[in-house]
Amino acid sequence: MTRGKGVRRPPQTRAAHASGTVPGLMDWYRDSGRHSLPWRFSRDPYVVLVSEVMLQQTQVSRVIPAYGAWLVRWPHVFCLAAASQGDVIRQWSGLGYNRRALNLQRAASALVAAGAESVPVDPAILITLPGIGRYTAAAVASFAGEMPVPVVDTNIGRVLARRYLGLGSVRDASPSRLWQLAAELLPAAGPAAREHNLALMDLGATLCRSAAPSCGSCPVASSCSWLLAGRPVPTAGTSVGPRFETTDRFARGRIIDALRRGPHSFDSLVALLPSPHSAQTGRLLSGLEQDGLVVRAVRGFWTLPGDD
Ligand code: SF4
Repeated sequence: MTRGKGVRRPPQTRAAHASGTVPGLMDWYRDSGRHSLPWRFSRDPYVVLVSEVMLQQTQVSRVIPAYGAWLVRWPHVFCLAAASQGDVIRQWSGLGYNRRALNLQRAASALVAAGAESVPVDPAILITLPGIGRYTAAAVASFAGEMPVPVVDTNIGRVLARRYLGLGSVRDASPSRLWQLAAELLPAAGPAAREHNLALMDLGATLCRSAAPSCGSCPVASSCSWLLAGRPVPTAGTSVGPRFETTDRFARGRIIDALRRGPHSFDSLVALLPSPHSAQTGRLLSGLEQDGLVVRAVRGFWTLPGDD
């Protein structure tokens, strides 16, 4: 993300927002927050970690059933640590970005191997685990541990960028500035900080959307810097990626889906991939093997790890 140029910045000083949450935000959150999301009812850091890893790149509607099924199968970090990687990847079906499943299992294994009896809530420990970045570590610390730590995901970042910095897009703000701002706004008490973080997140997810924000219904509209500045156009362009079916991610997903059903020979994997991916089967398998998502089994067959 880069900071935008040429955007009129309404005056926002540290003193202007030092008192914390914007008036009106928490009332709106009490009435309109996404309180029914199943992971919101839990303070179990394992449960919150599972939900956060699933939500990293997958929509809420797809995560809800997968999250429930995962916790039925592996209700505790010990259970996940003991699971086979093949089963974990199979269970991840429908969520995409399968490396997340593997990293979640690796994180559980690392914790149990180190003698942990549960997932910690200390972000300094969490961030050392596979697949856990700054956001996920902070989210577990705040949402499960009620620690007074700032949390910045895309939704929160967008609200902060617009409301406080007058920028139209989260990509116009530097990540370090957004984290600094989130820290400055944070209530001192952990439970209040948790609610504040969730309120900003829900505002970004439901009203302050990337395209066509619902400013007319927004509880902070009267003090929104972006709105008051006349909605300056974002300077960071939106990048249009290639069609999904043309990407390696699509082809890798097809291979993993096939191996979820059982071992496949190289030739059968070539046959199931559409052109031009089929000609790239060897390269795709090498990449998946490097990521630990597939293994070579006997007689030239390919399987998920643990299935060989
Ligand atoms: S007024 Fe509009 S742009 Fe500003 S925070 Fe609310 S929804 Fe976002």
